[in-house]
Formats: sequence, C-alpha cells, structure tokens
Amino acid sequence: MNDVVLTGDRPTGRLHLGHYFGSLANRVALQERHPLYVLIADYQVITDRDVPGEIRRHTTDLLLDYLAVGIDPARATIFQHSAIPELNQLLLPFLSLVSVAELGRNPTVKDEIAHSSQRAVSGLMFTYPVHQAADILFCKGTLVPVGKDQLPHLEVARLVARRFNERYGVVFPLPEAMMGAQPLLKGLDGGKMSKSRGNAIALSATEDETAALVRGARTDADRLITYDEERRPEVANLLTLAGLCLGRDPGELAAEIGDGGAVTLKRVVTEAVNEFLRPIRKRRAELTEADARTVLAEGNERARERAVRTLEEVRVAMGF
Ligand code: ATP
Ligand code: MG
Repeated sequence: MNDVVLTGDRPTGRLHLGHYFGSLANRVALQERHPLYVLIADYQVITDRDVPGEIRRHTTDLLLDYLAVGIDPARATIFQHSAIPELNQLLLPFLSLVSVAELGRNPTVKDEIAHSSQRAVSGLMFTYPVHQAADILFCKGTLVPVGKDQLPHLEVARLVARRFNERYGVVFPLPEAMMGAQPLLKGLDGGKMSKSRGNAIALSATEDETAALVRGARTDADRLITYDEERRPEVANLLTLAGLCLGRDPGELAAEIGDGGAVTLKRVVTEAVNEFLRPIRKRRAELTEADARTVLAEGNERARERAVRTLEEVRVAMGF
C-alpha cells in the first residue's frame, strides 16, 4: 500500500530539537517516497490557552523552520486548520463516535490539562484528540510521524476510523504512528522539551543562545561523567542530546569526557548542537517571509481540495 503521511505542529513558538529527532527527520525522509501533508494546527493553539497570541508570527516561524530542515514544498502540502473549514466539519460526525468516558481517560489530555494556562478545562481541550483524528483522516493519512506524547491521540484516531467504517461502510484506513530516533526528548529542566515550557533549544537559536541554554541545564555534583538514565537523568539527557547530534553512542561520549565534569560535558553538548544545526540555521537565514506565505497559500489550496472530497464521501456514506 502506498502510505499517505500526515503530521503537524501547533504554532506556539519555534521548532526545537525534540521536534527534529521526534518527527521532522522522518518527514524529510518520507517525502521522497510518499505524499506528505504538514499541518500548522492553528485552531489547536487555543486548546490550552485562552487566546491564540502571536499566531501569525508563530505560523511564519513554523514555515521557515520546515523549509530550513528540508521539507520540500514541491513535494509536501503545508497547510493550516483555519484555512480548511471542511476539515473542521469532520469533527462533528467524529465526535458522535467516541464516548465522554473515553475522552476523559486520555493520558496526554490529562498531561496537557496539567500544563494548561486556561482557568478551566475547555470543551476544545477535551475533544482535542478527536479534532486530531479529523486532521489525520481528512487526507486518509496512514503514517503519522510523531513523538511519544501523541500515541494516545493516535489511538483515538484509529478508534474513530474503525467505528466510522463499521457504522457507515469503509471510508478510512487505520493510521499508524511512526516514532523518530528520540520519541521523547527531554528539555533542559528534565521535563518533555516543549515550545511552551521554556525548556527547549530552538532549531533557530543562535550559537550564543544555545551556549547559554546548555550552561543553564541542570546537572549533578559528580565530576565523573557516566551515562545512567535511572540515577543521573539530567546528565544522561545532555549526553543523549550530544549523541543524537553527533550520531554517536552517549555511553561512549561519557567515557571520553570521563572526569571532565559538567563543564566539559556542557562544552561537548554546545559544540555538538551548534555544529549539527549550522546548515539548518544558514538555510533559514536565507529564506524570506514572502517565501513562507507563497508556500502556505499553495498548500492551503491543495489541502482544501482534498478535504472537500473526503467530507463529501463522509456525507454520502452517512446518508445525508
Ligand atoms: P507546545 O508546548 O506548544 O505543546 P510542543 O513542543 O509540545 O509545543 P507540538 O506542536 O505540541 O510541540 O508537537 C508537534 C510534534 O512534535 C508532535 O508530533 C510531538 O509528538 C512532537 N514532539 C514535541 N515535543 C517533542 C519532544 N520533546 N520529543 C519528541 N517529539 C516531540
Ligand atoms: Mg505539545
């Protein structure tokens, strides 16, 4: 079967190393062989905050980050929720396919509620995974390159597809998650590296910003650097980061650093990250906002055509 690849990000800030090793690297590889849809999930920004904030700037940032890492707009369809009303219309029938209890049990929704800045949990937060099912199914996506936090959401998408097919006849394939080299990269504070949690190294950070961020990362007092995820999670995370950027084993790096302590460790990490990101940063600096706008306008048009066809199929299958 020829897979259709769909994945997306919320325009809440610049993309970071967690995105790269969790999902972006796979997108770039998959676009060679499969149709790739990349969603800028703008409506989903207001799942965990009351107002969308600097949504236009963040949307441009995402576009520039995508192009900088090598997502090719000639192959990929890059689009945004707010430009595709038909995609959002799928949410309505899809909501009828899941129970309130099933939505309440979702561990990722629970985690996102815990980090939410909303005063009360909104209906949109609660139905987030079903909206995401619409994101994936509108283009009949089969392969979804995501980080580990998205696995419960993907289960909901599969549930929605299965139940729809059972009730109304087969329309949707069952999508599968595809995780990257690092399905859950931790941030500089030990929690999940996240755009909105102030603990990330952005792909577009400058070399000096990167050095300052790494300098501020938590470590421990033991001078001898060893790779021990259980007992020394902060040190292990920094070694993991350097290992990913250098394509090397973190245990070997630890042995090389030996009793160089946190100072040497942080120097190794900073150099590895800056070296790895140099070509990506260079490409980003050469792009203009006008490039980004053109890519988005074309992507929105293509995605909308796809959504119109799927919504029509859904209406016919349901007998409307
Ligand atoms: P926010 O804090 O605004 O939610 P985020 O950093 O969590 O931002 P998302 O836009 O929610 O980013 O996620 C986009 C994609 O990147 C998802 O597929 C998600 O699984 C993946 N991803 C996000 N953070 C990480 C991480 N630390 N490690 C691996 N994958 C990640
Ligand atoms: Mg997130």
